[in-house]
Amino acid sequence: MTRDQNPPAVIDEIRDYLVFLKKLGITGFDASEKAFATLKEWEHPIQKIPGDLIAIRSGLVNCRRCKLHGTRKNIVFGTGDSHAKLVFIGEGPGVEEDETGEPFVGPAGILLTRIIEAMGLTRDRVYICNIVKCRPPHNRNPEPDEVAACVPFLKQQIDAVKPGFICALGSVAARTLLKSDLPISKLRGRFYDFNGIRLLPTYHPSYLLRNPDKKRDVWEDMKLLMKAMGIEPPAR
Ligand code: SF4
Repeated sequence: MTRDQNPPAVIDEIRDYLVFLKKLGITGFDASEKAFATLKEWEHPIQKIPGDLIAIRSGLVNCRRCKLHGTRKNIVFGTGDSHAKLVFIGEGPGVEEDETGEPFVGPAGILLTRIIEAMGLTRDRVYICNIVKCRPPHNRNPEPDEVAACVPFLKQQIDAVKPGFICALGSVAARTLLKSDLPISKLRGRFYDFNGIRLLPTYHPSYLLRNPDKKRDVWEDMKLLMKAMGIEPPAR
């Protein structure tokens, strides 16, 4: 704790970090003498794996780098395989995600899960995250200053996961990552290079819920992705 931090803020930070560890499946700590002796031998092991997702997440604890911190309930960091070949990136948490701290768990998340399963994958075989980690009020789009504040964390996540493929879901994700002003309807349907990673933009699942006629376009995009990744379409 630094002298600038008050005790409630520190308690918030600790709680936030413990919730994150729980989501990773860590349910307790071995506080035996043997465990401490092993840790001493390792000499601060977490410092030997810079850039891993736990270290990046710990840098976000109680983050107040943009105004979205004022209205969030939970920081929604990311979920899935920390070494996934494919990363899905949306724009930001909605109400259900803010409540649970998990990305894509509301109606749009259910649709994304169905898309992932239609590809012959599962949610735990991909990594899922967002451009901003805190919910914009009333589900508005994140504003440029909020994106600018949060996107460095996304870039660290991508560096840690090292995917071969990114699927950018919706215009905010696609335009942010590609630094483009084009609408998603013009960006989708082809691959782009993102720092050596093949990036495919497509429509956001929440847009599909409002415009079900666009599901065919998304499936065409997913077929491109499957072909590039060497995934056989599952038998129907
Ligand atoms: S959106 Fe990102 S930068 Fe803004 S407060 Fe949340 S975690 Fe921090």
